[in-house]
Amino acid sequence: MFFEKFRMDGQVAVITGGGRGIGLSCAEALAEAGARIVIIDRDDAVAESGRQALATKGVQADKYVLDVTDSAAVDKAAADIFARHGRIDVLVANAGIARTGARAEDTPDELWLNVNDVNYNGVFWCNRAFGKYMLKAGRGAIVNIGSMSGYIANRPQFQTYYNASKAAVHHLTASLAAEWADRGVRVNAVAPTYIETEMTRNIVDRSMMDVWIRDTPMGRMGQPHEIASVVHFLSCDASSLLTGATVKADGGFTIW
Ligand code: NAD
Repeated sequence: MFFEKFRMDGQVAVITGGGRGIGLSCAEALAEAGARIVIIDRDDAVAESGRQALATKGVQADKYVLDVTDSAAVDKAAADIFARHGRIDVLVANAGIARTGARAEDTPDELWLNVNDVNYNGVFWCNRAFGKYMLKAGRGAIVNIGSMSGYIANRPQFQTYYNASKAAVHHLTASLAAEWADRGVRVNAVAPTYIETEMTRNIVDRSMMDVWIRDTPMGRMGQPHEIASVVHFLSCDASSLLTGATVKADGGFTIW
């Protein structure tokens, strides 16, 4: 009875930024639970490489090229995916970007707007568009990928714009959860610590990583599969009483 709740057979799960990193690992986890997978990514080559990586594991995923900052295109994507698959059970709003290095007082408008457009606006456009189909069905689960940066201000790097965008994701999650709880749609979030992906590989120098690890009670970064397993839990019926929660998967980082 308990393990059945972790199965997702016949369900359709849509994962934004699913071509690589945390999103790709989420796709693999939900596929293993039985869901049909649709990978969304703004970069066709990345989406295709993710699709092929899943194929080597026996998962036939669908892919859809979309920039989540384009709200009209997000609406169209939801309509297209529903038309193709006949249902949408799960959305993992994972697409996000990190840019660091600008002090708050020197942050150019372009940097602020770009990070918030992808990390915050894009999450809302996707929740709104895909959530509509879930509300119509009276059932669905959304998992937004926030960050521990929504709780803390990172060091040594400065990234006020990123931290604020992720705090917004957490409160957006709680607000939507309150609106949709009695209509069968659960909305939760995950707040990861530093995870070894292209994102951290692109921005990190070794001395920065040493500070991160020193500041983490577990003394290490996380792996994408350690976020994917939390996303799986929040996506399936095993978490049927959870909504509006942001689950910290942070190796204890926010304790200190
Ligand atoms: P990543 O850069 O490896 O992957 C992000 C994916 O999102 C890429 O495939 C990229 O093409 C896609 N993407 C970016 N902008 C997009 C857009 N506008 N529309 C559609 N797709 C877009 O990053 P990751 O480390 O796997 O991060 C995934 C999520 O987890 C992000 O929201 C990130 O902020 C969050 N997160 C990451 C870490 C970390 O340390 N890696 C920590 C906390 C939170």
